[in-house]
Amino acid sequence: MSKAHNPPLPKIGSPVMTACKGLIFYEEDTPTAVLGEQRLYFCLPSCLKAYQDDPKTSCLVDEFNRDSN
Ligand SMILES: [Zn+2]
Repeated sequence: MSKAHNPPLPKIGSPVMTACKGLIFYEEDTPTAVLGEQRLYFCLPSCLKAYQDDPKTSCLVDEFNRDSN
């Protein structure tokens, strides 16, 4: 089971929860990233960039904190 997973994208207009815990409606230009087998959504391209630069200072900081508790 070493095959890389690439979670499918939702349909345009589907409600999705962002990494910042906001509810948005998925659009073609919604920034997304894949974390493990999970697909992440970002409210803004700057959120995605922050995540790519350093996940621990991005919107996902809570996720990482939760993991280390
Ligand atoms: Zn954000």
